[in-house]
Amino acid sequence: MPLANGRTYRAIPGPSETPDAVQRAMHRSSVNIYEGEVVELTESLLPDLRRVARTEHDVAMYICNGHGAWEAALANVLNPGDLVLVPATGRFSHGWAEMAQGLGIEAEILEFGLQSPFDPGCIEARLRADTARRIKAVLAVHVDTATSVRNDIPALRAAMDAAGHPALLMADCVASLGCDRFEMDAWGVDVLVAGSQKGLMVPPGMGFVFFSPKAAAHRPDRVSRYWDWTPRARPEMYYQYFGGTAPTHHLYGLRVALDMMKDEGMEAIWQRHATLARAIWAAVEHWGQAGPLRLNIADPAHRSHAVTTLGIGTPQGQRLRDWCERNAGVTLGIGLGMAPPDSQERHGFFRIGHMGHVNSHMILGVLGAIEAGLAALDIPHHAGGIQAATRVISAAAPPAS
Ligand SMILES: *Cc1c(COP(=O)(O)O)cnc(C)c1O
Repeated sequence: MPLANGRTYRAIPGPSETPDAVQRAMHRSSVNIYEGEVVELTESLLPDLRRVARTEHDVAMYICNGHGAWEAALANVLNPGDLVLVPATGRFSHGWAEMAQGLGIEAEILEFGLQSPFDPGCIEARLRADTARRIKAVLAVHVDTATSVRNDIPALRAAMDAAGHPALLMADCVASLGCDRFEMDAWGVDVLVAGSQKGLMVPPGMGFVFFSPKAAAHRPDRVSRYWDWTPRARPEMYYQYFGGTAPTHHLYGLRVALDMMKDEGMEAIWQRHATLARAIWAAVEHWGQAGPLRLNIADPAHRSHAVTTLGIGTPQGQRLRDWCERNAGVTLGIGLGMAPPDSQERHGFFRIGHMGHVNSHMILGVLGAIEAGLAALDIPHHAGGIQAATRVISAAAPPAS
């Protein structure tokens, strides 16, 4: 008999859980976009978005998803025929490269597989070999949501500097912004791409591109009016923020989400995500001592705090996901790009999203559902992963004095 009635939880890596306060702020009738409250509200978002990204640079907002923000970023700095270097660590790295190719940009892939971060030394060597300076940008995914690897962006910056190469450093932070520490200015990032629906806790529908003066100086011969970030970042008239009608309801939601983030503080947000991620790893490593379950990324220093990819083998991955949905009201994420899309092996992977509006009870609930599912399905595992997870949480949260 199913046990899923009650509040369900989609532990998928985006769209993430939206806080009730964000939903309430969005629940309203139509909004005047020509004058009044929404104009001031929109302006108020910019300094708070900058605070989240740790930057003083410009930010352009778009009505789009992460794919749109990818294209927006590329369209403002590259001409057809330009060459970009893409260190690939999962499906999302390849996705950004394909977006570039669709714009007539040549994308050279440096492949690092599905279980490792990129190697800054290899990137440095490739840049050094580019004596003609054909490479205009390096497209680096900070957290690749498919593999759950977290790449070392400061090390990439150091590698580019060591090579003395002038290419732009462009970072995809769609999964990581608001979850994993990211410091755009301190880390020397030229372009940062993000979306509303992961760490920012707002439904899908807004994209953000932050850009440095160096990136702005790379303006190509022609930029589509719609993607052009200049009027969006420095509008003279309100409609220019969005090149047309603003995403009014999202703006109200985002205002509340940014207030929540300001109240908690970025350091505390990063710490919360780190602790909850470590609780998940502790449980999985415990279960995996006797059975097929394993974390995709071996080195904890390169695991994301926003999403965790697990391997368990076919057909156990699919069975476990089904069991958790039916009997616990917990939806686990499917594996993405870990095996060919037409293969059975793809069902051997699943993901836990732990980004944004998540706390200990949600994570312990997900882990409890997984452990119950492993037992119910007779999938071999070392029982007691939950205790391993609770130990991490207890140790990180001392009693109030
Ligand atoms: C989710 C995601 C994207 C794509 O975002 P969509 O909103 O699905 O278009 C791109 N990059 C990363 C790292 C992501 O996690």
